[in-house]
Amino acid sequence: MTTTQDIKPLTPEEKRVIIDKGTEAPFTGDLLKEKREGTYVCRQCGAALYHSSDKFDSGCGWPSFDDEIEGAVLRVPDKDGRRTEILCANCKGHLGHVFLGERFTEKNTRHCVNSVSMDFIPGKLELEETAIFAGGCFWGVEYYLQKLDGVKTVVSGYTGGKTENPSYQDVSYRNTGHYEAVEVTYDPAVVDFETLAKTFFEIHDPTQTNGQGPDIGKQYRSAVFYRNEEQKAVTEKLIRRLEEKGYKIATKVLPAKTFYEAEDYHQDYYVKKGSLPYCHGYVKKF
Ligand SMILES: [Zn+2]
Repeated sequence: MTTTQDIKPLTPEEKRVIIDKGTEAPFTGDLLKEKREGTYVCRQCGAALYHSSDKFDSGCGWPSFDDEIEGAVLRVPDKDGRRTEILCANCKGHLGHVFLGERFTEKNTRHCVNSVSMDFIPGKLELEETAIFAGGCFWGVEYYLQKLDGVKTVVSGYTGGKTENPSYQDVSYRNTGHYEAVEVTYDPAVVDFETLAKTFFEIHDPTQTNGQGPDIGKQYRSAVFYRNEEQKAVTEKLIRRLEEKGYKIATKVLPAKTFYEAEDYHQDYYVKKGSLPYCHGYVKKF
């Protein structure tokens, strides 16, 4: 995922490369010999482009990478009719060219990038992903999911309906179509989506169709709102496994929509109250 930052003013040399698609002289770029752990970002907009772990020494005179950060780099046919140009997916700044089939590394890919198109940020990049689950009263789902290692925050809120910025009253009494849901922010290096989703299925009853536990109503139905194809595939795989075990799963698998944070008094409800959820509990299913 790219982070959009302000477009930076460019020096004449940066403009010659990034805007006018020029090439810096080989063996002159200041990032050619950079070997530290870190992230290469777009000089113009700051979007993360490459990890240091994908950099290799090709001997060609420009920084070389055999992989990009997912979704960060666009490939287009070069005007010369032969090569493939690479651009920053966020600001469309020129990076260089990509070459396939040279057998430098196992991935058989070389992103040949101008130093002048990038900045280097040393150190580990903080990774963060989000997932949205609806499994009845959000107080209980939040309570259990925030206990998992690698989970940074769990926020209670509303999603999947029609009204913008709905209130608890809107969702409960005005038929907005929203689900009570939680948005989990997690570090994918510590906990993966599959672990989160398995826990989600084990802390509520995914077979109940009209709500959850004693909470009956559309806003209490079970659903996973996926943010990408991987989350969707993992969720569908887990549902198939539960169905093979004889569970008749009611959980809907839906594309994520805007997530609206609930009112403050709904956040950390059980932690503040110092009691256990009435509506959820852990039952091993996998
Ligand atoms: Zn950019």
